[in-house]
Amino acid sequence: MTDFSLPFEDNDAFASAGLRLTVDLGALVENWRDMARRSGKARTGAAVKADAYGLGIEDVGEALYLAGARDFFVATAEEGVTLRLYAPEARIFVLCGIWPGTERLFFENDLVPVIASEEQLTFWMSVLADYGDYPCALQVDTGFNRLGLTVEDAVALANDVSRPASFAPVLVMSHLACGDDPAHAMNKQQLEAFRTVSAAFEGIEASLANSAGIFLGSDYHFDLTRPGIALYGGQAVNGAANPMRPVATAEARIIQTRSVRAGETVSYGRALELTRDSRLAIVSAGYADGYMRSLSSGGVPLRQTGLPGGQGFIAGHKVPVAGRITMDLTIFDVTDVPEKLVRASDYIELFGKNILIDDAARVAGTIGYEMLTGLGLRHERRYVWEEADE
Ligand SMILES: *Cc1c(COP(=O)(O)O)cnc(C)c1O
Repeated sequence: MTDFSLPFEDNDAFASAGLRLTVDLGALVENWRDMARRSGKARTGAAVKADAYGLGIEDVGEALYLAGARDFFVATAEEGVTLRLYAPEARIFVLCGIWPGTERLFFENDLVPVIASEEQLTFWMSVLADYGDYPCALQVDTGFNRLGLTVEDAVALANDVSRPASFAPVLVMSHLACGDDPAHAMNKQQLEAFRTVSAAFEGIEASLANSAGIFLGSDYHFDLTRPGIALYGGQAVNGAANPMRPVATAEARIIQTRSVRAGETVSYGRALELTRDSRLAIVSAGYADGYMRSLSSGGVPLRQTGLPGGQGFIAGHKVPVAGRITMDLTIFDVTDVPEKLVRASDYIELFGKNILIDDAARVAGTIGYEMLTGLGLRHERRYVWEEADE
């Protein structure tokens, strides 16, 4: 039998990947420390749901845990089970709560359910009757109209002397609807409502602020903050400069370059007609990888008329997407970059330090959160610790 392993001994999956993602754990930890400073007297947790916003809950969870984070928020119990391996002593809150049949996952992995409705509360009380004392958190809806007990029901629960002693919430929390817009009147309304709740649950820790809420100032910090997007370098507050360090860099390999004459068209639907002789670079990333079709330069609903679409970055130049993005491939116009600097097998940055994730997201008609969590399965991931440059 032929042994194929030898010639590939030095094969480095990252160096040869068509599409690769670098996660800078040093920047992540710096961002967490920054959030902790801004959280003042409050303890600072971390939202690591959806595989840590697409960047990998194992490595992200462990880095934050080693940096000192002890309160984590995941969406599902399964995410909590994975995180537990990397954050042994942390408190792990499960935002979607607990359902019949999932109790063992919680108890065996020491996960704290966030109770968010009267139905869940009733179920939780019956669980406690069988199992005895166990911590939980309470989510209260202060105007978002997503998850949570009403303020009235929460206050009634706090004042209910007949509730079992085994019912022991360790945290009351609520979530802001408009934290990214500091001037919005909704922030103060939710703050007032949440103050009522936290006063009713005197002696129990309270938490209101996500990343954006942390920027709203100390009134919003309570005992524990829950930053997510800011840890990953994303923009938390609209219309303000983003002070966070970029954490994720996505790069796609050029698999072919080609010269095309003025007047020819590019990609599906002939959505772009070239107005000059051009050089194109075709890279191995497409909408199946979360490089959204709405980043096309034309021929998509957001951009019928060839307005600028997404941009990549190579050799010091920003290069525009040309024509429609396809499932596995994207075409960039590299005419303005010296030819010797753009070769097949070179990489074009899709987002990172040069193309900020929120700028790419804006062009795509979405937000950095969706770009990160939509990265898809074909990225080769690498984790690095880059030295701070200050
Ligand atoms: C996702 C989430 C967070 C983190 O929000 P960011 O905007 O990413 O900082 C905090 N709290 C709850 C309840 C969440 O669902």
